[in-house]
Amino acid sequence: TVRVRFAPSPTGYLHMGGVRTGLFNYLFAKNQGGTFVLRVEDTDLERSKPEYTEVILDAMSWLGMPPDEGPYYQTKRFDIYHEKIEELLASGHAYKCFSTPEELEADREKALAEGRKPMYSRKWRDRSDYPEGEPFVVRIKMPLEGTITITDMVQGTVTVDVKELDDFIIARSDGSPTYNFVVVVDDATMDISHVIRGNDHLNNTFRQIPVYRALGYEPPTFGHLPLIDGLSKRKGSMSVQAYREMGFLKEAIVNYVSRLGWSHGDQEIFTMEELEQYFGFDHVGRSSSSFDQDKFLWVNAEWMKRLAPEELASRWLPYLKEAGYDVDVDERLIAITALMRDRANTMVALTEASHYFFSDEVTYDEKASEKWLKPGGLPGFRTLVERLDALSDWTPQTIEAVYKEVMAEFELGMAKVAQPTRIALTGATNSPSVYELVATFDRDVALARLKKGVT
Ligand code: GLU
Repeated sequence: TVRVRFAPSPTGYLHMGGVRTGLFNYLFAKNQGGTFVLRVEDTDLERSKPEYTEVILDAMSWLGMPPDEGPYYQTKRFDIYHEKIEELLASGHAYKCFSTPEELEADREKALAEGRKPMYSRKWRDRSDYPEGEPFVVRIKMPLEGTITITDMVQGTVTVDVKELDDFIIARSDGSPTYNFVVVVDDATMDISHVIRGNDHLNNTFRQIPVYRALGYEPPTFGHLPLIDGLSKRKGSMSVQAYREMGFLKEAIVNYVSRLGWSHGDQEIFTMEELEQYFGFDHVGRSSSSFDQDKFLWVNAEWMKRLAPEELASRWLPYLKEAGYDVDVDERLIAITALMRDRANTMVALTEASHYFFSDEVTYDEKASEKWLKPGGLPGFRTLVERLDALSDWTPQTIEAVYKEVMAEFELGMAKVAQPTRIALTGATNSPSVYELVATFDRDVALARLKKGVT
């Protein structure tokens, strides 16, 4: 059975690269009917902070990819690590190394001077004449001969000569276990079947495989995801929280991130359910993908059009409150949402595009209002406003009928009535269809603003 894990280090917020790793693990688990485990790799005590763990957990639940199991915390598992270190020492798969830092540094410099890759001399590998009371580290015995080959779900067959591999430290002189060791203990004891992580961990994998074997475990299957270009730049390195504040929908984040390295024909828009159904490593490519902010915005705009207006309105509400507007999810807000949503690609942009529905004051575009809001009103406009005022039913249809009637009577083209309407209501000339626009306003507000256009 499939058991995968997402193992973030709580040393910062959850960024897009992390979301991708977490999501691919989540989707693989769901697709395979497996279990998605969350493990918090918090052994770096200086850089790890509980609030980052909190933020990561929040982001995962907001995005709709909560763990089935966990979170487990590495800092609560030191007993297990120590036990395993003792086990390896006892079985002869690890050894104490008493080389001093000075000695190691001198070896290193010598190697560099001779153009060799610095590696530990393995001086203490087969000794037992341990000095009394001296500090030591524990090192793992790497195989001395041969190669290690993995059949990676993404990278294919990758082989490394063990001569590349150092007898690396698994416990420091203060006894604390090191990263490449605890990851193996965790993945093995948590019964992880597939380790899916960024390709930046590929080198670690070859160090970790001998540790599995030394501990008597079969290594899991690996899948190393290609890197994402553009993530180190400002935009792509933003956190989930930052994108949320900018007005990206969770559906769009999940959708966009799922396509960073995976594809399903030429389909671009996916629901979480579809992703769970379609996701698999047969369509995870080896080449790096790039983070494309414009594409991300396009996906977000698509999702803004796909959600039901009532749903989108309730997602929008916090952004409106944040902007200082005192609104509720009511019929009017739903109508505004339906009218305006295809004119913005984020929730924040939607707020900006729709400001004239919410603020009491209209800021008039000077040139446009000079042209279209003549003192006394353009011919016919006063009549238009009077007839709108007399309407008992305030709907796009009744409003349209009044416009048509006045246009015919005064022999006016659409622009002659539409432009002054737009300016009076919104302050500018670009807005949605006029009848919808007028109907979506509160009747009193619309009439008050239109009257300004005739005085
Ligand atoms: N904690 C590691 C990281 O955040 C993940 C290690 C792993 O997946 O094995 O990069």
